[in-house]
Amino acid sequence: MNFKEPGCMFIDGKWTISDKTRDVINPADGSILAKVYEGDEKTVQTAALVAKKAFAGWSKISVVERANLLNKIADLINENFEEFAAIDTANNGKPLRDSRGDVADSIACFRYYAGLIDKPHGQTYYTADPNNEAIVVREPIGVCGQIVPWNYPLMMSAWKLAPCLAAGNTVVFKPSTLTPLSALKLFEIFEKAGLPKGVANLVMGPGSTVGEEIAKNILIEKVAFTGGTDTGRAIMKAATGNMKGISLELGGKSPCIVFDDSDFEAAVDWSLFAIFCNQGEVCSAGSRLILQDTIYDKFLDSLVARAKKIKVAKGTEEGAEMGPLVSETHMKKVLEYIEIAKKEGARLLCGGNRITDGDFAKGYFVSPTIFADCKPDMTIVKEEIFGPVLAVQKFRTEQEAVDLANDTVYGLAAGVFSNDITRALKVIKAVRAGITWVNSYHPTFAQAPWGGYKQSGIGRELGTFGLDEYTEIKQININLAPGPIGWFK
Ligand code: NAD
Repeated sequence: MNFKEPGCMFIDGKWTISDKTRDVINPADGSILAKVYEGDEKTVQTAALVAKKAFAGWSKISVVERANLLNKIADLINENFEEFAAIDTANNGKPLRDSRGDVADSIACFRYYAGLIDKPHGQTYYTADPNNEAIVVREPIGVCGQIVPWNYPLMMSAWKLAPCLAAGNTVVFKPSTLTPLSALKLFEIFEKAGLPKGVANLVMGPGSTVGEEIAKNILIEKVAFTGGTDTGRAIMKAATGNMKGISLELGGKSPCIVFDDSDFEAAVDWSLFAIFCNQGEVCSAGSRLILQDTIYDKFLDSLVARAKKIKVAKGTEEGAEMGPLVSETHMKKVLEYIEIAKKEGARLLCGGNRITDGDFAKGYFVSPTIFADCKPDMTIVKEEIFGPVLAVQKFRTEQEAVDLANDTVYGLAAGVFSNDITRALKVIKAVRAGITWVNSYHPTFAQAPWGGYKQSGIGRELGTFGLDEYTEIKQININLAPGPIGWFK
């Protein structure tokens, strides 16, 4: 990977520069990894205009042609598999093992939507009038705006772009200012695959200018956003100008409930994975462990022993299990939460510090951190930390577990561990969350819908629901007995 020249934006099929550049940082050592050009409100306006022009052609080409292009994109990502993984590891910090998983998921996502678009869609209704045939068709929306975060740079881009393009929309796309590099590479692949010019446009830049204009712009008819709940709120407000469609994938504070009748070792293993995979920078992280009193101490002993063995290292290092956090600012925010937890009386069992020895000195590494005996009103129980910090709460009865799990403004994900399938199902159905697991945590599939209840979002990504989000619904009524209505004499 060698970014000698600043990375350009991609508008109307042309690599585009501006008078502003931003340094992109490697969080493993604080060094400058690359520079990229950034746009502003005007750049978004230009991109929206070309996307509008491109819509007429793109929305009309055959689904087979569109599917071929999406499959070609998947092939090209596959051909550049290791480069994509290396870029996300260098830019986000995550271990190569995680980045490789993200690349595989992104390929699967493009292939899934390529396969879905020529399958049967729409409906036919028998209506009150036997001479009226009502058919319902789904049509592309038009120009969509998409804004993604930094925690899964390539994968979040694929989840957004694949269904949007598959449905026949054109797009103005903005990656996070912290992690634009894999999106840049993805747009190189769009060009190579032969995506018609203007169909997908990459505009880099801050949320306060580029992001806000995407949410506001009158030519953009839908905005799809993944990121923090407060940013989602701002986007919702900005989108009212032209009554844009919105879909929001927001934050979470997700519970992982463990009953004493679960498979002990498996539950420890999954609970560890639930919070510490991807450095805890996962919207659906199992950041609240809700543990039955009868196994509380024994379980925590095992969990802490395992957490202390997690190999924190530069993502490029062989065997790395957790990398640095994405930025210095984010690391400081996570460390502040740790201090707040100590002050509020949570019991620190392990971690709780920045790692600065030797090679780690310049990077943004935080050790896996577990706080026990957390109470519902503690800040680390209520607020999303988005880092490797677990808050553990104790419960006695099934009802207490459900009440604790639901005591949050969020509703993104949840997991339950129990070998009593009736109990597991009853509890998971009682938890108000959109993505749930029984006896596992985190597995995610392109085929199944992704999204949250309550303040974790609006709408769903992935699966058939994810394609529907990028379509309008039209009813077509056909009069089978043509002739005048004769209403006015
Ligand atoms: P963020 O909200 O700060 O930023 C996300 C994106 O929005 C970035 O591209 C940013 O530049 C842009 N942005 C910022 N302010 C904006 C504004 N006013 N208008 C328009 N765009 C704006 O989030 P982040 O720090 O990048 O990511 C972390 C958050 O993302 C966490 O809360 C996490 O839970 C959430 N997330 C959710 C999901 C999900 O599927 N639900 C997935 C990944 C991350």
